Amino acid sequence: MNFNETLKCTSCDQAIDCRIGMSNRLHQPLRFACPGCSAPIDIDLTFGVGMKFSGAERAEGISPFDNTNPFVDLHLDFPVYMGEYVMGMTPFMRAITQIRPEEYQLHNARLNALNAGADNVPFFRNCLKFYRNGKIKPFQNCARQRFRVAADSDLPQDINATLYSLIAKVMWPFALPGQDRDTVDQYMRVISELSQSNRQATDAFIDEVHGTGFVKALQHDCLEIYPRILNAELALRPVLFYDFDCDFSETLLPVRVSTHDFEMYKDMYKDITEIVSRQLVLIAGVNNLIKRGNHNEFQPGIGRLPNGRDFTPQSLNAFADVPFGRKMDFIDDSWFTLEDAATDNQLRNSIAHYKTNYDEVSQVIEYFPRREGMEEERSESMQFIEFMRRILLAYREMHRMHHLIKAILYYPMLMR
Ligand SMILES: [Zn+2]
Repeated sequence: MNFNETLKCTSCDQAIDCRIGMSNRLHQPLRFACPGCSAPIDIDLTFGVGMKFSGAERAEGISPFDNTNPFVDLHLDFPVYMGEYVMGMTPFMRAITQIRPEEYQLHNARLNALNAGADNVPFFRNCLKFYRNGKIKPFQNCARQRFRVAADSDLPQDINATLYSLIAKVMWPFALPGQDRDTVDQYMRVISELSQSNRQATDAFIDEVHGTGFVKALQHDCLEIYPRILNAELALRPVLFYDFDCDFSETLLPVRVSTHDFEMYKDMYKDITEIVSRQLVLIAGVNNLIKRGNHNEFQPGIGRLPNGRDFTPQSLNAFADVPFGRKMDFIDDSWFTLEDAATDNQLRNSIAHYKTNYDEVSQVIEYFPRREGMEEERSESMQFIEFMRRILLAYREMHRMHHLIKAILYYPMLMR
């Protein structure tokens, strides 16, 4: 369902024709920039309550719109466009003409699941916290009562199985169909082959990453990300649409994203990539095991520069301290392929160490990837929607490697 409204900007009196498409979400905070003066105009829509405007007021309009006024198309579930009004060509229609019917069904099912699960997010966060704190009974109760995920027993492997069933059940809207299964199959195959071909070396690797508490700490850090992704649902839902190979250019997020929100998303991106960087330690250890039968042994000379200096890590522990952007360089012919866009090191560095500016009206992020000394810094820019796409991709990589953590945690329980 769509509403057509003509609004008048309270800053510059510009008349704007708006088509507002309904999502099934209870509360729908929408924003766009006035085409006349760029001031933000907010539309706040709550089912059962109505629509509130700020920055603009309702005005007399004609029906159907005749393109004398600037036109804005809004819909919380799809990327939005501005431009010419075409009757019937709503964001929804535009979307379903761009993707296949089964893709639209998936998009819709994901959004419905997010709407239906919204009230459960605080319980999910608590449930994960119980697990992290070792409060097993409350964890199992919460998983069973709220999410209908029951534990078979109090054995460690069953407690873990409950945890991972719970995550799969709650987080599926953000996953790519089939990816979890393929990933788990791959890890289980690799780990069990290693264990059969070189049991002693594999045990030594597992013992080291366990004994130092490294794997458990990583698992706990991953668990903190899931509820944060759910809390970012509003800004991520139109981004999910890009799983279906559509063009990114010239689109905006329909949702209101303040500078404060941006700071929150920025921290989340930084935290996820930080975890990904540590997860690469496990990827490297397994790679060394596969290639050289010793998790500490990197390919000789892989870090040697033309001037003869050799930065090849002498152990897995030394590799852990290598900066994120260089880690993949030390993993020869990696058994695990990392999605490039998920780990944009320039963006990550700018966000972690230098400055970023966010313009909440144009939704453009300006960032400064290089340190330029006394020279004027050169900046790069990115649409906010693209940044949210990076968050989603980085999250998926984190989640994919979380399965390796899971396999390593299971190893002592199942293989020994
Ligand atoms: Zn205006």
